[in-house]
Amino acid sequence: MIEPDLELAQTLFNELYAIGYDGIGVTRDTYGPGEQRAHDLVRLYGTKLGLEARVDAALNLYLTLPGRDRGLPAVLAGSHLDSVPRGGNYDGAAGVIAGLSVLASWIKSDRRPKRDVTVISIRAEESVWFPVSYIGSKSALGLLPPDALDAVRFDTGKTLGQYMEEQGGSPENIVNGTPAISNATACAFIELHIEQGPVLIDNQNAIGIVTGICGSLRYRSATITGQYAHSGATPRTHRHDAVVAFAELVHEMQERWQVMEAEGHELTLTFGQVNTDLKQSDFSKVAGKILFCIDIRSRDVATLDLMDYYVRLAVAEISARLAVHFNLGEKIRSQPAIMDQALRRGLTNSAKHRGLKFHNMPSGAGHDAAMFANKGIPTAMIFIPNADGSHNPDEKMEMKDFDNGARVLSDILWDISNQ
Ligand SMILES: [Zn+2]
Repeated sequence: MIEPDLELAQTLFNELYAIGYDGIGVTRDTYGPGEQRAHDLVRLYGTKLGLEARVDAALNLYLTLPGRDRGLPAVLAGSHLDSVPRGGNYDGAAGVIAGLSVLASWIKSDRRPKRDVTVISIRAEESVWFPVSYIGSKSALGLLPPDALDAVRFDTGKTLGQYMEEQGGSPENIVNGTPAISNATACAFIELHIEQGPVLIDNQNAIGIVTGICGSLRYRSATITGQYAHSGATPRTHRHDAVVAFAELVHEMQERWQVMEAEGHELTLTFGQVNTDLKQSDFSKVAGKILFCIDIRSRDVATLDLMDYYVRLAVAEISARLAVHFNLGEKIRSQPAIMDQALRRGLTNSAKHRGLKFHNMPSGAGHDAAMFANKGIPTAMIFIPNADGSHNPDEKMEMKDFDNGARVLSDILWDISNQ
C-alpha cells in the first residue's frame, strides 16, 4: 500500500496558513487576493511535482497526473480553497492537499494510472462573499445562472463578473462555452473534507463515509405580526403576543422533530435568527412583531416536505388561537444529493482493509460534491474528524486523522483510475 506524502501535506498546510492568516483566523477571500494566493501556492507545488496545470473559464485550477490512456474520462479529486472571513485553515484546503499528497506519493513510487487523475482546486464555495452558492463548481459544470455574474461581493460592491475578469477568467465562456466538466471528461469526483460537526470525534471514528448531502428548505425572512400593548395594563387574555407565538412554534417543532426522528427520518431544524422589531420593541411592551428564519435540512426530499407541512400546520393553529399573523415569506429550496453506491463500497473496503473505524453519515453542510452528484457524475465524500466545528479560527484537524483520510483517498483513486 502506498502512503500519501504527509511531509508535503504539512508544508502546504503551514504555507497556506502563513499566507492566509489575518490576525485572528484565516481569510481566503473568494476571487480576491486571499483565494488567489492559495491557488498560486497549490499550482506551484503541483507543477513542481510534474503535474499538468490548467484553469477553466471560472479559474478553477486543474492539476493532472497523465494516465496511460488519455482518451478516457478522468478521475477528479479535490475541494475548494476559499474560506469564510476569519475562518480555519482546513475547511476546503484539506481536500486539495490530500489529493496532492496522494499524487506525490504515486509519482515518487513510479505508479502511473490508466486514466488521468486530476486534483481540482475549486473556486468560490463559500457563499458568504457573493450571495451565490457553489460558484466554482456550478461554472465548471455549466450550472451557473447567468444573472449570478451580476451578484455583488458584500464587502467591496464589485460584481462577480468583474472579479473573474480582473483575475483573468472569462464570464462570457462560463455562460456560452462548453462546460469544463461533464460525463465525457470526468468519470468520478471524490471530495475529502473535514467534518464540520462533532459526530466522528464523539464516536472515535477514523473517517466518515458520506451517504448523501442534505438539501434544504428555508424561510429566510419570516415574520409574526401581533399587537404592541402595554406590558402592565394588558391582561393575558387580551394579548396578541408575537414572542409567545414564536415560542409556541419553536416548542411545537422541537417535539415534531423528535417524533419524526423516532419514525426514522433524518433531518435538522434550526431557527438561527430571531429578532423583535428593534425600532418598536421595548422591555415594557408586549411584542407586536418578530422576525425569524427557519432552516430545515435533510437528504430526503419527502422528509423536507413533511416537516414543511408540519410547520404550516403549526402556523395555522397558533395564528388562529393567538390571533397573530404569520408570514413565512419566500420558500427557498436546494436539492439533496446522493453519493454513488459503488464508490461508497470502495471507500468501505479501503477503510476495512486498512483497519480504520468508519462511520456512514449524511452531510448536513452543503459541498461542491452535491453539484457533481446532481449533474450525474458518480461522487463520493470522505470526512475527517475535526474538533471545534468549522467557519471559525479554532478548526482543529490532527495530521494522523488527515493521514487516514488521505490513505483511503489514495486507495479509491487508484482503484477507479485503473478501471
Ligand atoms: Zn468547505
